[in-house]
Amino acid sequence: MAIATINPATGETVRTFDELSEADVQRKIGIAYERWLTYRATGFEERAELMHATADLFEKEADFAAQLMTTEMGKTLAAARGEALKCAHGLRYYADHAAEFLADEPLADPSAVGAKRALGRYQPLGPVLAVMPWNFPMWQVMRFAAPALMAGNVGLLKHASNVPQCALYLEDVFRRGGFPEGCFQTLLISARRVEPVLRDPRVVAATLTGSEPAGRSVAAICGDEIKHTVLELGGSDPFVVMPSADLERAVATAVEARVQNNGQSCIAAKRFIVHSDVYDAFTEAFVSRMRGLKVGDPFEEATDVGPLATEQGRAGVEEVVDEAVSAGATVLCGGRRPDGPGWFYPPTVITGITRDMRIFSEEVFGPVASLYRVADVEQALEIANATGFGLGSNAWTDDPAEQERFIDGLDAGQVFINGKTVSYPELPFGGIKRSGYGRELSAHGIREFCNLKTVWVG
Ligand code: NAP
Repeated sequence: MAIATINPATGETVRTFDELSEADVQRKIGIAYERWLTYRATGFEERAELMHATADLFEKEADFAAQLMTTEMGKTLAAARGEALKCAHGLRYYADHAAEFLADEPLADPSAVGAKRALGRYQPLGPVLAVMPWNFPMWQVMRFAAPALMAGNVGLLKHASNVPQCALYLEDVFRRGGFPEGCFQTLLISARRVEPVLRDPRVVAATLTGSEPAGRSVAAICGDEIKHTVLELGGSDPFVVMPSADLERAVATAVEARVQNNGQSCIAAKRFIVHSDVYDAFTEAFVSRMRGLKVGDPFEEATDVGPLATEQGRAGVEEVVDEAVSAGATVLCGGRRPDGPGWFYPPTVITGITRDMRIFSEEVFGPVASLYRVADVEQALEIANATGFGLGSNAWTDDPAEQERFIDGLDAGQVFINGKTVSYPELPFGGIKRSGYGRELSAHGIREFCNLKTVWVG
């Protein structure tokens, strides 16, 4: 894919970018490595000051950053502004908590191992490559960069090819925040040029957020090189609604959870699994709200749902829906692209899905909700878990015994009861099964790219 800004609301190519030459990639890796040799020795206080200065810039420039995001990938301007501010929050969170998260872990009784002193100490690893997607073009990167920089690592970013201006802004904002040259750099390269970077001995580890094929490739190369990876891949999150739930709130949240980011979020609820007793009432209210959403120019304040980010992405969504309909599924609203320019696709609700349809097992990366009717908790869990993914999950019930059953029984990295899955800096984030491995955010996220060194002093 060419590296370019293509406005998804119009299909117009706004700006194209040359890829870095091989010599420039080598130079940037060299700068990262040299910088790490000195940056690793800086203290938490010094790093925290730079983080807060960078957070100040995100807050001051939130409107500008939001315009870049909306232009390049089509999320609504309000959502993009929220994302810029969330970046500031993530930076401040790690600035304020890294020292505590990475403090030495002394053994209470070192004599048990024959030592005077025994402890675990977290140390940075070196330059880490982050391969990132376009859907949260700034927050996704910050989830890696904030903890990595506070831990004393340095970052190299290979961003998605359709968000080059966001990628360059991120390099620039860290520089202006005062981070020394080489702490955080963007590599404008295509996906096929990732392998030599991963194999470079100066690059010690990698994190990838994106699709399964990309994750498989990066993990295979890093496996070959014995380098640590974190993978945040796709999801097809269930959203279970039981009779005791507050139906009004459940419906409102279900709509938000499905159409957030124009339907292109890994943790969007995608499969709605509803108990028979409330199925009809839920469906009527849900379809009515989905139908009422305003689809249009993401720069306009009144717009709820903008375009999909790429033409190829929309074609993928269309194909899965059309295939299901041909095989007998029923569309309750949406299901047909509008005429005109841009890669719009309407909020869609689909029912009558059978297990042989791709929509049952694949991630649909657009505003398409699948509906399932179930008789009880166990059937709800069976359908919820009948997927290769295991990222987020949601269950709505006011019954404490049912809540416990869903907390234990949903096969996912995260479970939200009476709410929708959200990434908070304060909570660990990640998946199981084909949604990936490792954790971002919280204390767990900052420890992923550290050497936990065992220290024994006799
Ligand atoms: P994608 O094609 O995998 O792209 C993601 C990144 O990987 C881009 O920078 C892309 O570069 C690069 N890439 C693609 N193929 C590669 C390869 N073989 N080797 C190395 N790098 C490669 O993903 P997408 O379809 O744009 O993004 C949506 C996916 O991301 C969805 O599945 C979504 O669920 C997932 N996602 C997961 C999370 C999470 O936290 N779990 C969060 C957000 C999104 P190019 O752009 O140059 O191809």
